Amino acid sequence: MSEIKVLENGAKFAHVSAGCLNGFDGKQFVKDAIGATSCEISFGILRTGEAVPFFHSHKTNEENYVILSGAGKFQVDNVVFEIAEGSVVRVSTGCDRNLKCTSVDPMVYICIQAKEGSLGDYTMTDAELTERASLL
Ligand code: ZN
Repeated sequence: MSEIKVLENGAKFAHVSAGCLNGFDGKQFVKDAIGATSCEISFGILRTGEAVPFFHSHKTNEENYVILSGAGKFQVDNVVFEIAEGSVVRVSTGCDRNLKCTSVDPMVYICIQAKEGSLGDYTMTDAELTERASLL
């Protein structure tokens, strides 16, 4: 079972790795390892027939699930729908959610949890081009 490994830690960045996304069970949380201040990020893996062992809801944070591989079903309150690699599901506060893997291959996903309604400027309204020379 792998853990989140810190690879580089700069004054203004952190680089960690969950390693092989098939190499752990359950969830790997990233926020503390990278010192994130705006969201929690976790990697999750569910094997064939496996669901998160509980339903849960959130009071202040919405969750955004990004399915990286595999397929399954997602339930929000009493609504069930199919999910697969490439699916992105946003779930609001105040409702129950769970997901289950129905594919032969494991379902690997990322969950990004952030305060609902907190996103202000983003992408090009927040970014500005700078003059730094590339070292890449
Ligand atoms: Zn949650």
